[in-house]
Amino acid sequence: MIDLRSDTVTRPTAAMRAAMAAAEVGDDVFGEDPTVNLLEERVAALFGKEAGLFCPSGTMTNQIAVNIHTRPGDEVLCEEGAHIYRYEGGGVMANSGCSVKFLTHDRGRFTAAAIRGAFSDPMNPHLARTRLVNIENTSNRGGGAFWDLEEVWRIRAVCDELGLTLHMDGARIFNAIVATGTTAEAWGAPFETISICLSKGLGAPVGSVLVGSKERIHHARRIRKRFGGGMRQVGILAAAGLHAVDHHVERLAVDHKHARELGAVLSRLPYVAQVVPVDTNIVVSTLHDPTELDPLLTHLASNDIRAMAFGPGMMRMVTHLDVDAAAIERTCDALASFHG
Ligand SMILES: *Cc1c(COP(=O)(O)O)cnc(C)c1O
Repeated sequence: MIDLRSDTVTRPTAAMRAAMAAAEVGDDVFGEDPTVNLLEERVAALFGKEAGLFCPSGTMTNQIAVNIHTRPGDEVLCEEGAHIYRYEGGGVMANSGCSVKFLTHDRGRFTAAAIRGAFSDPMNPHLARTRLVNIENTSNRGGGAFWDLEEVWRIRAVCDELGLTLHMDGARIFNAIVATGTTAEAWGAPFETISICLSKGLGAPVGSVLVGSKERIHHARRIRKRFGGGMRQVGILAAAGLHAVDHHVERLAVDHKHARELGAVLSRLPYVAQVVPVDTNIVVSTLHDPTELDPLLTHLASNDIRAMAFGPGMMRMVTHLDVDAAAIERTCDALASFHG
């Protein structure tokens, strides 16, 4: 089975399982799990931040970030496809009592000018207090688009001017780092907090890390407890994350190459109307006839290939470390044989 629905479907490698089995553990709610502590320090240091917090999911790291940066009644700025808004069960509203205002965007990326335009005048008592800006890098609904660091710095400047906090949903930040040849530290600098997923393309079974200042992460630790995310001997899971950070970052370039190959084949198929430019490991295509999506997915499934519906007539394929060159070739053949 070739599973291209998501990069969350990866299974831990034998080496990762060995690292997990050998992990030193302790009670992490007491701060006594040495492997968790090491992972938190390692990831924070990579991004040039003081502290990190290991959480069960990227949803939790994002939701904790929203919670520590806002008060009920505040407003969060993001784009309409943002994971924090669209795919986290209404958490921004339910967990933190915030409203959301959408920014116009290009494949998930907006500008400093858009933030200035959306900012609510704090002197006007009718309006919610604009408080937080969320950047998703890479952008999932944007087809894996990565951000331009210079625009992020322009956004940082506007946030400073308007008193806003800047959070990055960096579920796939390592894909952006590898694709752009930048460093994690360069991406850490403009943000108050960053959420980093270990369970996407990095291939760990569980876990995300929130990084930021000591003070913010101290606050975040209490909110993690409140949200039920305080875990005990989870060095076993943190060991998988450490292994992923040590061994599965550079190889993301292979996923990107595979995604480009899929994109190139899709763009030549007569039944495909459009392929979103492939920047990283996500390939989003739109069919001429939306009613052909289900038959296409069924055709792929009959070839032991799974892809995901991503909107009317839209299909998402995501490459990851459990998809090798032979699997890409088989997928390209199956795509070509639809209506063939
Ligand atoms: C996967 C993902 C998350 C976190 O999802 P979890 O399944 O809760 O770990 C956050 N943001 C984006 C953009 C994602 O793709």
